[in-house]
Amino acid sequence: MQNNIPEIKIVSSFYKYVKIHNPLEFQQKHLEFCLLLGLKGRILVGEEGINGCVYGTKGQIEEYKNGLMENSLFSDIEFKDTYTEKPAYRKMFVRVRKEIVYSGLDVDLKNTGKFLTPIQLKEMLDRNEDIALVDMRNGYEFRIGRFRNAISLPIENFRDLPKAVKNIESLKNKKIVAYCTGGIRCEKATAFLNENGFKDVCQIKGGILKYGEEFPDTYWEGKCFVFDDRLAIQINRFNTWPLEECAWCKKKCDDYMNCHNLDCDKLFICCENCKEMHNKSCSGECRISPKRRKETILIEN
Ligand SMILES: [Zn+2]
Ligand SMILES: [Zn+2]
Repeated sequence: MQNNIPEIKIVSSFYKYVKIHNPLEFQQKHLEFCLLLGLKGRILVGEEGINGCVYGTKGQIEEYKNGLMENSLFSDIEFKDTYTEKPAYRKMFVRVRKEIVYSGLDVDLKNTGKFLTPIQLKEMLDRNEDIALVDMRNGYEFRIGRFRNAISLPIENFRDLPKAVKNIESLKNKKIVAYCTGGIRCEKATAFLNENGFKDVCQIKGGILKYGEEFPDTYWEGKCFVFDDRLAIQINRFNTWPLEECAWCKKKCDDYMNCHNLDCDKLFICCENCKEMHNKSCSGECRISPKRRKETILIEN
């Protein structure tokens, strides 16, 4: 008999910009490998590299990591693990894409910003150095969690970066420390800044996830948005108060959901109580709409 204690699983995220000569062939073999291990997750591959997130038990994740690192292209790839009781993925996808993170930016990664390790950033912040922490993520990610005093561009989609850069023109001569969830967006974003006249551009190696692993409860506030079924994860262990409020009752809250009216699908912040009370909808109109999101029952195995 199984007990009812939810099993703690791992979500491991990773990326590497590296030339993959035949992405299609790689994709097919890699999908087979993931399915054989019984993993779930989402992996994008392209000629420019790999970007993925896998979800499974400790044993499955270890086997995955060993298998991936056996390939000399990925022997030095870095993984960022988070533990979760909530299911993060329901299926396993491996897909071929031109870009492993959609940016539309035509940059040379040789121009990417200087890497700062989490400890280097923490020491700069401890010394109160005159830097601008620039959040390269989308506005809805920034809303529920960010580094203290960080600047948002703001953008609603990463491909809007070029248009939004004019909002930070005044920082051209200042030391900029850019960050995103795991670092993949910043590699291109900082290259773009360097190619557009910014003088001193750095990025956090491993992004928020790596920083949070090493220094929780220091300079991060709120949650970290993630692009899987969890929607957000806790970075801090103690300072976990929400930065936002429920769109309905205004109670302090940082739980996102998508409106269950399929014609709306808006991402909004909603507390557990209001979820039930308002039929998982963002407005009175949506509440009575006939096209509802199907309730998915997660069958985990
Ligand atoms: Zn509420
Ligand atoms: Zn709605």
